[in-house]
Amino acid sequence: MKAAIIGAGLGGLLAGAKLSKAGYEVEIFERLPFIGGRFANLEYKGFKLSTGALHMIPHGSRGPLAQMLNETGAGVKIIDSSPMAVIRKENGETISFHDFRKELSVTKRVKLGTILAYSLKFKPKSDISFKDWILKYFDDDFLLKLADSFCGWALSLRAKDVPAREMLEIINNMYLYKGSGVPLGGCGAVTGALFEVIKSNNGKIHTDICVDKIIIDKEKACGVSAGGTTIDADIVISDIGHLETSRMYVCRDDAYLEGINKARPSRGIKICLSSDEPLIGHSGVFFTPYAERINGINEVTNADPNLAPPGKHLIMSHQTVLSDDLNQEINLGLLDLKKLFPGKKYEVLLVQSYSNGWPVNRASSGSDIGSRTPVQNLYVVGDGAKGKGGIEVEGVALGVRNVMKKIGV
Ligand SMILES: Cc1cc2nc3c(=O)[nH]c(=O)nc-3n(C[C@H](O)[C@H](O)[C@H](O)COP(=O)(O)OP(=O)(O)OC[C@H]3O[C@@H](n4cnc5c(N)ncnc54)[C@H](O)[C@@H]3O)c2cc1C
Repeated sequence: MKAAIIGAGLGGLLAGAKLSKAGYEVEIFERLPFIGGRFANLEYKGFKLSTGALHMIPHGSRGPLAQMLNETGAGVKIIDSSPMAVIRKENGETISFHDFRKELSVTKRVKLGTILAYSLKFKPKSDISFKDWILKYFDDDFLLKLADSFCGWALSLRAKDVPAREMLEIINNMYLYKGSGVPLGGCGAVTGALFEVIKSNNGKIHTDICVDKIIIDKEKACGVSAGGTTIDADIVISDIGHLETSRMYVCRDDAYLEGINKARPSRGIKICLSSDEPLIGHSGVFFTPYAERINGINEVTNADPNLAPPGKHLIMSHQTVLSDDLNQEINLGLLDLKKLFPGKKYEVLLVQSYSNGWPVNRASSGSDIGSRTPVQNLYVVGDGAKGKGGIEVEGVALGVRNVMKKIGV
């Protein structure tokens, strides 16, 4: 059996590693000169910056991605964050993420326990947003700000843009798999290890080759056309999202096309800083609910000092984009950093913005439509087809796991 895979991002590489390990002949085509997509390292002045991710794996060494890396034999060590996260309060003090309930009145605390337990079991069937869900039951300013900070950091969305039922799936997974971690060597170490697995199983990965067509015969995918050559395959897996995939063949399924047109990418801005002294001092997430734009920050060198030159720290902030004026969004982010770290010395290494064809998530959380397409033997993986409750790369891993189940691997 042969699989042709479009795109060597995390989704394509995970699928390629699973399939090649199961005995499939795997051939991957990547249009860029490097593999890893938005989960690759970017070397700069001795720092390991990245093409996208903040070098964090949302559920660390216990989550779906870590499990799949183990299953494929990809040798990646994930350092679990300690503490998982802290919250910076309005007065500048910090509290452990686990203690956020202590900021609520006793009545709201009790209510939160009961309503959360009920809602985790019986998810809302309506399209109520996470923000409206909070307003309905608690109407608490701190909870709303924390929700925006969490959703901004983890999903690059505001709480008003995330369906409550998806957020409750995410909370379920947080209870199940626990908190985040940093892969030793950064996100490039993960995609690099998957590349090695595929190669060791005789898989082929071509860079600088763009797939321009998916070949369909009698409603079944049977290959791709790339670089002027036709490649026959028994299954085709696309890591480029439903919309781009549907443009590679004549799709006449109106209901499917309508569904995929509703999926919106999430936009974000990442600012990378260098400093001699730690600005945060731990390897967890620093949530900033009271900042104007920044949703959260990490200091990954507390988990892996080799992500920066000796004696330096690498700090990365993330913010969702709230207006179409990117320059203003960036300036507000930079201003936030000054206010968050008054009197601290740091250098801004790089500011990156993400939208359209290179977004934070190809389908924002809750707008994924799964991995199936109207064409037999054609599947979509990656962050355009995440599994339920899957934050970022955990969602990518859950989506790949769903596809493997369908294929029988
Ligand atoms: C700023 C930012 C911060 C983030 N932080 C985190 C984080 O800390 N933790 C986390 O878990 N996630 C994070 N994410 C999300 C995570 O990076 C992505 O969800 C994940 O990398 C997406 O992988 P993918 O395989 O779906 O897509 P991609 O990485 O986009 O891979 C798709 C690949 O397909 C290639 N391609 C496209 N068209 C073609 C074609 N026609 N032919 C051949 N190849 C093609 C592309 O070049 C690309 O390499 C972050 C993202 C951003 C942008």
